[in-house]
Amino acid sequence: MPEREIYLLSPRALSPETIAVAFAKTSRSPESFREIAAELSDESSAKFHEKWVVGYGHASVAEHAVLHIAFENVSRVAIETIEGNRLASYTEKSTRYQKWGMDDFTIPPELDGHPLRDEFVNAIRLLFSTYAESLDPVKNLIVERSPRRENESAEAYDRRIRSQYVDRCRFLLPAAANANVGMTATARVIEMTIRKMLSHPLAEVQQIGEKMKEVAKAEAPTLVKYAEANEYAMKAGQEIGNWGLENRDWGLENRDWRLENRDWRLENRDWRLENRGWRLGNGASDWCSLIDYDREGEDKILAAAIYRFDEIPYANALAYVKSLKENEKEGLAATLLGKLGRYDVPLRELEYSTYTFDLVMDQGAYAEFKRHRMMTQTPQRLTTRLGWTTPLLITEAGFGSRYEAAMETASNVYEKLHAFNPDVAQYIVPNGFNRRALAQFNLREAFAFCQLRSAANAHFSIRRVAQKIYEDISRVHPLLTKYMKLREETWQSVEENYFTRV
Ligand SMILES: Cc1cc2nc3c(=O)[nH]c(=O)nc-3n(C[C@H](O)[C@H](O)[C@H](O)COP(=O)(O)OP(=O)(O)OC[C@H]3O[C@@H](n4cnc5c(N)ncnc54)[C@H](O)[C@@H]3O)c2cc1C
Repeated sequence: MPEREIYLLSPRALSPETIAVAFAKTSRSPESFREIAAELSDESSAKFHEKWVVGYGHASVAEHAVLHIAFENVSRVAIETIEGNRLASYTEKSTRYQKWGMDDFTIPPELDGHPLRDEFVNAIRLLFSTYAESLDPVKNLIVERSPRRENESAEAYDRRIRSQYVDRCRFLLPAAANANVGMTATARVIEMTIRKMLSHPLAEVQQIGEKMKEVAKAEAPTLVKYAEANEYAMKAGQEIGNWGLENRDWGLENRDWRLENRDWRLENRDWRLENRGWRLGNGASDWCSLIDYDREGEDKILAAAIYRFDEIPYANALAYVKSLKENEKEGLAATLLGKLGRYDVPLRELEYSTYTFDLVMDQGAYAEFKRHRMMTQTPQRLTTRLGWTTPLLITEAGFGSRYEAAMETASNVYEKLHAFNPDVAQYIVPNGFNRRALAQFNLREAFAFCQLRSAANAHFSIRRVAQKIYEDISRVHPLLTKYMKLREETWQSVEENYFTRV
C-alpha cells in the first residue's frame, strides 16, 4: 500500500498561481503534488488557469492561490466594501487604540471642482479638531477616576486607559476618516472583490478596485486578469432604488387588493399539497423532501432588496411588497434578477429565504454535495441500510449480477462491522449505497448549487439531486426561481436514462 504523505507546498518556492494549478491538476493526474509542481512553470500555470478557471468557469480552483493585500489611507466608507466579503480575513487599524491626525481623511473625488468641496473640508476639519481637543479632557477624567496603580509603568497605564477615553472621542470621527487594513484572501475572493469595487457607485472605491487589480495581477496574473465591472451588480442596484421610489405610493393605495391576493395564494397552496400527495403516493420522491421553508421567503427577499437601496424600515418594505399585485411583484423580481448572467452571483438579499431538505442520495453524489460549504449540512453516518443504486450501463453491460453480489457482500460485512463499531463500519460502504443528509440553505446558495450541479458536465447522480431540489423550490417560490438557469432535464429523466435502481 502506498505510504501516507502530508507536506507543504511552500509559497516561498512556488507562486500562488502555480500552487493553485498543482492542486487543481490532482483532479485528473495520478502523479503526486510534488511531481505535478516540479513540472510547472509560471507560464504553464497561466495557460492552465486561462483554460479551466477563466474558460470553463471552474472558479473554485482559484481558491488555492492566496494573496495578502495592504490598503493604506482609504476611507471608512471604502473599507466597508473591502470588508464586505465574508470569505476573506482582515485586520484593520483600530479606532479604539489609535488616535487620528488632522489630515487623516479622504475627500471624495466626486467633490473635485464642486461648490460643496470647501464646506465639506471645513466640516471635516471641525470634526477632527473637536476630536483632537476632546482627547485630553476625557483622558483627565479617566485618570482622576482610575489612577495609576502602584508599580504600573507609564506605558502600561496608558495602554490600560487609552481605549477608555479614545472609545468616547471616536464618536466624532467621520466616515471620511482614513484607515489601514490588511486583507488575506484567495484569488477567487480577490477577483470578486475587484468586480464589486469596479461596479461601485463611488469613485474612491472604483479607484481602489483598479489599484487592487494591478497589484493582484503581479502575483496572480491570470486569475484576476478578467475582473471587470459587472453590469448586473451596477444595474440591479440602480433600478431597484428607482423602482422603490416610483412605486411606493401606489403600493399603499392597493393594500385591500392584497387580501384578495392572499386568498389566491391559499388556493394555490392547496394545489401544492395535492400535488405533493401525488408525488409521495407514487413513492417516487420521498428521497428528497422539502421539509421546511420560509412561506414568506420571496416577499422577504424583495423587501430586503428595496430596503437595501431605500431609507425605510424593514417592516415598511415588507408591507409594501405584500401590498403589490402579482404582476407588480413579477416586475420587481425581474429588476432584481432579470439581468443576471450565467456566472453572476445574485445579490446577497437572496439569503433571506431558507429551505431545509431531508435527502437520501448515493454516497458518490454526497461526496460532491458536501463541497457546497454555504449550506448547513448534517449527514448521517455512511451505511448500507438505505440500499444501493445501480447505474443503467452496469446492467446493460451484463455486469448486473456481479455488481449486485459485490454490494451484497459489502452490506453483510457492514452489518458485522457495525456490531463491533458503527464508525469503523463506514469504511466498507461503496459509493453506490444511499446515505441520508439534512441540508439547509438559502436561495442564493440554491442558485449556485442547482445551476452548477445540473450542468451537462456534472455527474448524473448529483444532477438528479440538483434538478429535484430546483423542482421543489420552484414549486413554492416560482417568482424568483424562474431566473435560475438550468438545462432541460428532469430528475425523472436522469433516473430513467442513467439508473436501473435508485
Ligand atoms: C464539473 C465539476 C467538476 C469538478 N471536479 C472536481 C474535482 O475534480 N476535484 C474537486 O476537488 N472538486 C471538483 N469540483 C468541485 C468544485 O471544485 C467545487 O468545490 C464545488 O463545486 C463547490 O462549488 P462552489 O465553491 O462554487 O460552491 P459553494 O461552496 O456551494 O458556494 C456557493 C457560492 O458561494 C461563493 N463561495 C463559496 N465559497 C467561496 C470561497 N471560498 N471563495 C469565494 N467564493 C466562495 C461562490 O460564489 C460559490 O459559487 C467539480 C465541480 C464541478 C461542477
